[in-house]
Amino acid sequence: MLKPEALNELIQVLGKENVITDPDELLTYSYDATAAMPRQTPDVFITPSTTEQVAEVVKIANKYNLPIYPRGSATNLSGGTIPIEKGIVMSMLHMNKIIEVDPENLTATVQPGVIIADLNNAAMEHGLFYPPDPGTVNTATMGGSVAETSGGLRGLKYGVTKHYVMGMKLVRANGDIIKWGNKCVKNVTGYDLTALFTGSEGTLGIITEILVKLNPMPEARKSLLGVFDDIDKAGNAISAIIRNKVIPATLEIMDNITINTVENFSKAGLPTDAEAILLCEVDGYQEAVDREAAIVERILKEEGAVEVNLAKTDEERDKIWFARRNALPALAQLRPTTVLEDATVPRSKIPDMIKAVREIANKYDLTIGTFGHAGDGNLHPTIVTDENDAEEMKRVEKAVDEIFEIAVSLGGTLSGEHGVGMAKAKYLPLEFGEAGVQLLRDIKEACDPNYLLNPGKIVQRRD
Ligand SMILES: Cc1cc2nc3c(=O)[nH]c(=O)nc-3n(C[C@H](O)[C@H](O)[C@H](O)COP(=O)(O)OP(=O)(O)OC[C@H]3O[C@@H](n4cnc5c(N)ncnc54)[C@H](O)[C@@H]3O)c2cc1C
Repeated sequence: MLKPEALNELIQVLGKENVITDPDELLTYSYDATAAMPRQTPDVFITPSTTEQVAEVVKIANKYNLPIYPRGSATNLSGGTIPIEKGIVMSMLHMNKIIEVDPENLTATVQPGVIIADLNNAAMEHGLFYPPDPGTVNTATMGGSVAETSGGLRGLKYGVTKHYVMGMKLVRANGDIIKWGNKCVKNVTGYDLTALFTGSEGTLGIITEILVKLNPMPEARKSLLGVFDDIDKAGNAISAIIRNKVIPATLEIMDNITINTVENFSKAGLPTDAEAILLCEVDGYQEAVDREAAIVERILKEEGAVEVNLAKTDEERDKIWFARRNALPALAQLRPTTVLEDATVPRSKIPDMIKAVREIANKYDLTIGTFGHAGDGNLHPTIVTDENDAEEMKRVEKAVDEIFEIAVSLGGTLSGEHGVGMAKAKYLPLEFGEAGVQLLRDIKEACDPNYLLNPGKIVQRRD
């Protein structure tokens, strides 16, 4: 419950226009992009513009024992921004300055509300790019992306967000402002705070500035599309490409359900009778790209592709990737609820995981579209369902449990890029064991003893 004194103090720090308590408006902040999650409206929604304001708000939150939920564009897929214990939702969208692009050191410094694509556009003016590339590049913020350590289509060759963060400015749970990291390529001083806070999902501190490294833009790229009449053959082809030591920038899979749904949605000319397609892009120096594309084409054919198409123009290439980026929105149109998972396995286990997901879909009589960043083992089995159908949701829950159990038993992980949030918190013992979960909790309590920052996410309070 928000006390009038607390509200007044927030208004004093932020101005009336940046503090919202209207219940209708607050509804907007009761959910995020994650399906089938509980909803909760906050007591208040605020929009700070400076690190100092964030720190002042944290002090007020401590004084009145109000939880704080940092929020970027709320596109996360693990229930990360839902204010489950009410309190304050803190939007970072006003902190949206690109402070610097430094082509000498190949770095950029940004505020957390910068949209990823805007950073990329600024970097491109210097012949540079920022590789992390989630499907939401045009909407997701750098802060949300760093807090989730999001990945995306280029993860296979370029890694995920945690491989690009070099330092940050952060407001701690007690209101202290700290800054660490610098433009040095080598920096091993002290504990690795960057690794700890990147991917901490707003549970350990509030990020107010981020230093990232940039890469030189590749000189050339080529995209290929392999068509398969058998999804297992497509799975084997992924393993064969990696085994042959070609690391494409992107290697994505779509199964038949996804192909048909996407084609309906985007009219990209996808082969709707295919059981699976692989979408691949190689990039780098022209000579290397020509060689790698030829190797990929050969492997796709050897592994049984019935057709391999090489995009000849930028337009053809853009059409392929537009179709892939539309996989989730297209599937989401099939039924009212889209439960998207991101269980991830070592690359060699992709064929096993694809088979397992198919068996689970049959066992529980569910429609599961599978697509995703198959080259790095990060599949997105997507259950299209209806959360109003209680009986079906029970089957969905069992299917999800089994997907995670199998992924972990294959040496995989609960999340390749979407984080834990509320959605996967209950599965953590599968991967870490109870003692491991306790260590996560100890870290949370060392940074945020009163569970003020994004409570209810990742680890729960001790009973
Ligand atoms: C259609 C679709 C496609 C997607 N594709 C991908 C994909 O390919 N790869 C991928 O990895 N993800 C993907 N996502 C998930 C999502 O887009 C990413 O996780 C994204 O980076 C989240 O950014 P955001 O600004 O929306 O963060 P939000 O959802 O607003 O926040 C995410 C988390 O970060 C915390 N947070 C936000 N800002 C801060 C801050 N300044 N300080 C501390 N904590 C903060 C929040 O509390 C929350 O826990 C997809 C989502 C959708 C809906």
